[in-house]
Amino acid sequence: MKVLKHKDPVNVSECVEKGNDNCEMTLMEFDSEPLYYKSVILPMLAAGHEGELINWLVTIGLLRCSQRCDNIVNDTCCQGVMYWVPAKIVDIYQWQCVSCSKKRSIREDSAFQDVRCRFKDVMRILNGWCRGTDIDDMAKLLCIKKQSVNSVCKVAIETAEKYIKSNITKWKIGGPGIVVMVDTYSEGLSKLNIQENHRNTNYIKPILCLAEVKEIPTRFWVQLLDRYSNSSSEQILNNVNTSALQVIQEIVNPGSILVTNLNTKICSYKTLQSLKHLYPVIVTVEGLKRHDSMNKLLNNLETIWKPCLDVCEEAQYFCSCSRIQHFFINVLWRQQFGNESLETLLNQMCYNNSV
Ligand SMILES: [Zn+2]
Repeated sequence: MKVLKHKDPVNVSECVEKGNDNCEMTLMEFDSEPLYYKSVILPMLAAGHEGELINWLVTIGLLRCSQRCDNIVNDTCCQGVMYWVPAKIVDIYQWQCVSCSKKRSIREDSAFQDVRCRFKDVMRILNGWCRGTDIDDMAKLLCIKKQSVNSVCKVAIETAEKYIKSNITKWKIGGPGIVVMVDTYSEGLSKLNIQENHRNTNYIKPILCLAEVKEIPTRFWVQLLDRYSNSSSEQILNNVNTSALQVIQEIVNPGSILVTNLNTKICSYKTLQSLKHLYPVIVTVEGLKRHDSMNKLLNNLETIWKPCLDVCEEAQYFCSCSRIQHFFINVLWRQQFGNESLETLLNQMCYNNSV
């Protein structure tokens, strides 16, 4: 059993009180990466540096540097200039109006408006999110209610989702002459048998998987499709295929060589023919065997699909579609930004970038 090593004496006692000394990860491990977090943020999370952290949040634009009073005085909005005053609350400071003395939270109008935990915990949770740490693990490790951890992760997800939608070209894969594999989990991918799968495939939500065959680890895109079962009508299956084709057009650059399966329910060779105008070369995995030059690709199918398959398997542990989608946003964010995930996320939460 690992002992929870905590730098903050207050939290240590909190954790010991809750009998929470059996976290699999220590706080030291949790705080160990990446360099940006360790060198820039971590020093401000130590006890006694709370004011420094809050000032830094203002400097980078995560908290407002000016505020006007919204108090109604004699039927008109006060609009008085507000300034920070020390307060005996978790934020240490709050806004106070110079004219009417009304107070406002320094979180108001910021990304953290609906978050209810200390800023130092917010920073830790955001870093944990950027490293793909499980929400339950973070709650245990930081001795914070799961609900509070969720509220911070929600901000991260919304920020990342908005950014991905408006910068989708960064996530596009393929291009002229580049091979892009098209498959779905679990219909096609589980056939690879990299991992044993005992689940009832009737109830698994299909996931469209697109993988660019260019470098290892493979760049991929994952997207949850509408649920269907083996007994679903042809119309439902058509709808699932229609949405899959839309995603392919959105994510895969024209001119890519699409490789798919011959007889699958979703994204079969026949189904993909309707995209021939964008992707003139569409081949089946079976058809690849006829091309000697493609043997290398066939021999490496498991390696190519491994990162994507791992993600699909992990997604099955989430019980709702929205949780799976949130998980995919996290995966796509980390895939794109790696060690710069946190820095990029904080940057996008700032005022100048969020509008
Ligand atoms: Zn006022």
